[in-house]
Amino acid sequence: MGSPGLLRLRGVVKRFGSFTAVRDIDLDIVEGEFFTIVGPSGSGKSTLIRLLVGMDEVTEGEIWLRDKRIDKTPANLRPTCMVFQSLALFPHMTVGQNIEFPLKLRKEPQDKRRARAEELLDLLRLPRSYYDKRISQCSGGERQRVALARALAFDPEILFFDEPLSALDYRLRKTLEKELKDLHARTGKTFVYITHSLEEAMVMSDRIAIMKEGRFEQIAVADEIYSAPVSRFVAEFMGEVNLFPLSAGADGRIASDALSVRPGMRLSQLTPGSGGLLMVRPEYVRLAGDADGFDFSLKGIVHGEYALGSRIQYEIETVNGMVTVEKLREDRLTATEGQTLVLGFNAENTHFIGEAA
Ligand code: ADP
Ligand code: MG
Repeated sequence: MGSPGLLRLRGVVKRFGSFTAVRDIDLDIVEGEFFTIVGPSGSGKSTLIRLLVGMDEVTEGEIWLRDKRIDKTPANLRPTCMVFQSLALFPHMTVGQNIEFPLKLRKEPQDKRRARAEELLDLLRLPRSYYDKRISQCSGGERQRVALARALAFDPEILFFDEPLSALDYRLRKTLEKELKDLHARTGKTFVYITHSLEEAMVMSDRIAIMKEGRFEQIAVADEIYSAPVSRFVAEFMGEVNLFPLSAGADGRIASDALSVRPGMRLSQLTPGSGGLLMVRPEYVRLAGDADGFDFSLKGIVHGEYALGSRIQYEIETVNGMVTVEKLREDRLTATEGQTLVLGFNAENTHFIGEAA
């Protein structure tokens, strides 16, 4: 993954009047990585990316590209940065003209432009015959590929993406997610990608930053964000999750209003006298007849069963509210609605979030 610190942000702030959209962000993006920023609508993702590409100016802080400070450099003089947006194609031009646009700006000769456009068509797996096709005759997925080809024609050091797939239907999105990941691998470019979709982020990214109210809550590899979130917000944002308030007495013994705890159980992160949330993902909760062999258990009544393709999800009513349990289809419960069961899980499959419950 090359040399570190291709793009560095230090104390970046963006205010609109009295409203602060981006709050004191420090970030190092590594050369060649696929870095994704995930967050709910309004969390400041687009604002941040606009600062990075120079479409907007920082209120405070510094942005560095390698050893050059670029936060005062206008967008058109940041040739290394480029935003890819699906709607930014020229609809009346051909696919070839669109892809060659950046090369034309650079006054490259026609034959070189065409050769590069054809290379990019190949790279994006579009037939070369598309060179003369009008954008208006292309499907949504094809337009997306053309836009990508054009972005690559700029030969930027970093490609920025602001929710490029959000308007597409599910199947096409899934296909393009994989293609983007593949394209990233084949080009070796640095990708900075924004989405509000956890799934999209998980499929493609090397690292993920979770953004909330203008700040990064957590930056980590996808697995870590999923299995070791730092806060309730991150845990809940990254898919279905069950959270149980826990505390430890002065003697270190775990106490919980909701869970039966195996006698003598200790959690290393739960220091005596402190409290927090015990997290367990739905796929780690077992359903059983009794609590034997589990570190943590509680009783529940099956409330609903939902088929999710290869998996089945159960909503189970407990004293801790609804608990979500997931099973593979082949392990589908014979028991269903209204039946009382024991839900059990083990400490090794949990994660402790040390914050006030
Ligand atoms: P996201 O892309 O995560 O959905 P945005 O970065 O677009 O969020 O917006 C973050 C916040 O900043 C929102 O509350 C939005 O209303 C506000 N905002 C964005 N651009 C402007 C602007 N030009 N003027 C005033 N407020 C803005
Ligand atoms: Mg946005």
